[in-house]
Amino acid sequence: MTSDIEPDGLVSADEALARLMAGNARFVRGEPMISHPPREVLANLAKGQRPFATILGCSDSRVPPELLFDAAFGELFIIRVAGNLMSPSVAGSLQYAGTHLGTQLFMVLGHEGCGAVQAALAAKFEGLRERSRIQTLLEDILPGLEGIDPQLAPPLMMRCGVEANVRWTMRQLVESPEWRARQSEDRFQVVGAVCDITTGQVRLLPALAG
Ligand SMILES: [Zn+2]
Repeated sequence: MTSDIEPDGLVSADEALARLMAGNARFVRGEPMISHPPREVLANLAKGQRPFATILGCSDSRVPPELLFDAAFGELFIIRVAGNLMSPSVAGSLQYAGTHLGTQLFMVLGHEGCGAVQAALAAKFEGLRERSRIQTLLEDILPGLEGIDPQLAPPLMMRCGVEANVRWTMRQLVESPEWRARQSEDRFQVVGAVCDITTGQVRLLPALAG
């Protein structure tokens, strides 16, 4: 594993994950440290950014990553899309973060009660259809829900669906040719996490198998 702070100012994946989880703990305790940034901080950031982590999260209004992780301007590179799903544009944003901003930690952040996952489950098990563009979005989620047991009670099915959806996005990321090509560098890490929207607590999912 690499050292915590690298000479070029890059933050290792392990250090980035520790920072995220410490920030989430502060948020959950109701003791955030981040406040409105002074003008000089913004002026300094205008010269360039060096975020320490990249997060692919859901657009849901209840899961704003900067607040959940008590992070300041310039600290997180965030992509938000309903259902925190992978698409060519999302993949491009992730690649940009790794290549040009130097983030080494990539977190896929799902959340309990995700409407996109709920709609995908309804499409899968009840045959419900959404309007055209929403349906397209659900079709990106559906392959990840293959293993969901149709007999599960709704709350458990949602929980399993949310986790399966995070893992599906992670898998698409780590199995992409771009990610495989960078893996030999042993610096990049992808982690999955789920936010409990009643408390704001973020829990990490086990690493992907295989
Ligand atoms: Zn959501």
